[in-house]
Amino acid sequence: MLHSKPREDNYLHKGLRRQLVQTLREKGISDERVLAAIEAIPRHFFLDPAFERIAYEDRAFPINAGQTISQPYTVAYMSQLLDVKKYEKVLEIGTGSAYQACVLAELGAMVYTIERQKALYDFVGDFFFLKHYPNIKRFYGDGYIGLQSFAPFDKVIVTAAAPYVPPKLIEQLKPGGIAVIPVGDENGQKMLRISKDKEGNVTEEELGDFVFVPMLEGKNK
Ligand code: SAH
Repeated sequence: MLHSKPREDNYLHKGLRRQLVQTLREKGISDERVLAAIEAIPRHFFLDPAFERIAYEDRAFPINAGQTISQPYTVAYMSQLLDVKKYEKVLEIGTGSAYQACVLAELGAMVYTIERQKALYDFVGDFFFLKHYPNIKRFYGDGYIGLQSFAPFDKVIVTAAAPYVPPKLIEQLKPGGIAVIPVGDENGQKMLRISKDKEGNVTEEELGDFVFVPMLEGKNK
């Protein structure tokens, strides 16, 4: 399987990546740790070799099973909102290509990521690059349920459009924790940053407009 075979990361890729980081800076991403993580991760590894250049354009792109790898700006923006610290436990819903998971892992997080599509879950299991990140644990399951056995989490990130804030995900957030979730329907979503204070009180901030593939209920074989 192609995804298991190591790929090259040459000066051209690195140059394109520096340009991408510059673009993200111009679009307002200011967290240097996030920018460094994006500069470190060969995004072309996550796409078919035919799309190497497109990998460094700031846009989403189709991957397997009708899903997408999120736009680099979106990944950077959400990562910045999450404010991930080293060794924090982060729950991600929607592994997809695992690009966002790798950015979080590069930031030093212990990443727990859930994918509901078996075919995508298996595909990513073969991915050679994930061997760099023993701090990523992958699960095949339904993100609406979260991961009770590993809760609580310092941070929660949902990378699919949720019709509402899934209550279990907020339950599984530590006091002092942050969840970043795009909430809305197929016409568009508002990015929500949800904070739980030390007493367990939850507050919501509504941030920018985004478009994700839908967060669906249940697992898919
Ligand atoms: N984070 C990904 C983007 C994935 S696109 C990346 O960096 O590439 C959204 C993903 O969420 C899809 O793979 C989709 O199958 C998955 N998804 C949708 N609903 C889900 C659910 N309830 N639980 C887990 N994953 C879900």
